Amino acid sequence: MSEHINELYDKDGNLIGCLLTAEAWNYVKKDILARLGVEDESQQEEIKEPVADWETLQEYWDYDYPVDTDVHCENCGSSTEDWAADDPRKFYLTAANLAGLVSFLCVKCQAKVVKKHFKDTIKTECTPYQENKDYRR
Ligand SMILES: [Zn+2]
Repeated sequence: MSEHINELYDKDGNLIGCLLTAEAWNYVKKDILARLGVEDESQQEEIKEPVADWETLQEYWDYDYPVDTDVHCENCGSSTEDWAADDPRKFYLTAANLAGLVSFLCVKCQAKVVKKHFKDTIKTECTPYQENKDYRR
């Protein structure tokens, strides 16, 4: 048996499981999960947020008000005081740039919430998710 695989037996010699090294597991994980029809939750949860962009925006924050962390979805009414602190998250950060544009995805209804930061005010726009949007027109 390979050094990467350890079959485990109970005291009567019945096979009860198999232990893989981390290296071996990472190598075959995708195939095994697919074959067993198990969804890899760790990968599903992993939505890449441009957190570095958001941090950069905070570093250069020159607006007349403190950094705002609240998000409100006009489409479904979902709202939070601090989007980054929610567990599970209600909103995912999808974009942030130095022009003060910060976008979020509403987890509940998939709407896009954009916060536009101006010198002394914040304008919020909410665009409902459109499943059958025809981009050809
Ligand atoms: Zn929503």
